Amino acid sequence: MDNFVFNANPGRVLFGSGTVARLGEEVASLNAERVLVLSTPEQADMASGIAAQLGTRVAAVFSNAQMHTPVEVTRDALHVVEQAKADLVLSVGGGSTTGLGKAIAWRTDLPQIVVPTTYAGSEATPILGETEAGRKTTRSDPRILPEVIVYDVDLTLTLPVAMSVTSGINAIAHAAEALYARDANPIVSMMAEEGISSIVRGLPRLTTNAQDREARTQLLYGAWLCGVCLGSVGMALHHKLCHTLGGMFNLPHAPMHTAVLPHALRYNADSAPAAMARLSRAMGFADPAVGLFEFAARLGATMSLKGLGMPENAVEAAVTEAMANPYWNPRPLEKGALTTLLERAFAGDAPWG
Ligand code: NAD
Repeated sequence: MDNFVFNANPGRVLFGSGTVARLGEEVASLNAERVLVLSTPEQADMASGIAAQLGTRVAAVFSNAQMHTPVEVTRDALHVVEQAKADLVLSVGGGSTTGLGKAIAWRTDLPQIVVPTTYAGSEATPILGETEAGRKTTRSDPRILPEVIVYDVDLTLTLPVAMSVTSGINAIAHAAEALYARDANPIVSMMAEEGISSIVRGLPRLTTNAQDREARTQLLYGAWLCGVCLGSVGMALHHKLCHTLGGMFNLPHAPMHTAVLPHALRYNADSAPAAMARLSRAMGFADPAVGLFEFAARLGATMSLKGLGMPENAVEAAVTEAMANPYWNPRPLEKGALTTLLERAFAGDAPWG
């Protein structure tokens, strides 16, 4: 075994069914009395249900979280933080809501409790991505890492199957890149394999029963493991491409990850053979790139960036932007090969080779 460094992020995790009933205790243990509850407009009812359960401990509810954490929305929310004299942020929702909570915590150092309802994994990372004027910037800071995560499988039962599929593959993307990260280590790789395997086995079961509690449990558990991977080691080409495309074209986050990941895996395959062998074992596909492409398509995901709203003739600009400030990647970034990658992802073609 090679030498390695393992950095564990601090954090408390409650996992199970009915766990939101324990939010009161968690708020009290953080000595908070004026909670700000966050959600998207679509999950306002879920947020007010949880706020009602917390009663007088809730100082305000802000239900306008948006995808990609636009800084204008954060400014509005900070106004509410100030007026309500909030002393804790409780984010109920997917990565968009968690992102807003993190943006507030980074600026105010307020403690955060996150109740995740998708498989995005943001709750387990000290990373914040924000968008301003069409550009996504990412930073990492201990203040951004939520103090407590309350995973309640019951709240994920309403996540539509199509969104569950792409959100699950978004989680797989974190673990896949963790397997070939420059700072990969055996502990995180173990979580990555288990996370990927849980998600690949859980997703198909939703197509026959979206309320399959056992599958939902397996998926949320896998999502947590994949989120830990994202928060523990560096990400590479796939995440760089998605940050670039998300910032430039405001493409939907999880569906975009789903359309790009098989191609990023193909790009890196020959430069990361050990990671590919583990991916293949975790997924149960001989060729992880083609196998994942077919798996996602079979589950109904849109596999073309064009179908997700990427404009025509934008590949060159995206490649230039991605190469301008690259992340480390097992295979050096080559303009021609990246152009082929994005052209194929744009058209929805299977990974080449
Ligand atoms: P999302 O949070 O935007 O949710 C998508 C939609 O689904 C929203 O309308 C939401 O209200 C709804 N929804 C969520 N859970 C639901 C449920 N259980 N039932 C019904 N509806 C539900 O989507 P996402 O993919 O979770 O998050 C995407 C965002 O997260 C992006 O901005 C991305 O950059 C960010 N992200 C950040 C990190 C990080 O570590 N910083 C990691 C992953 C994702």
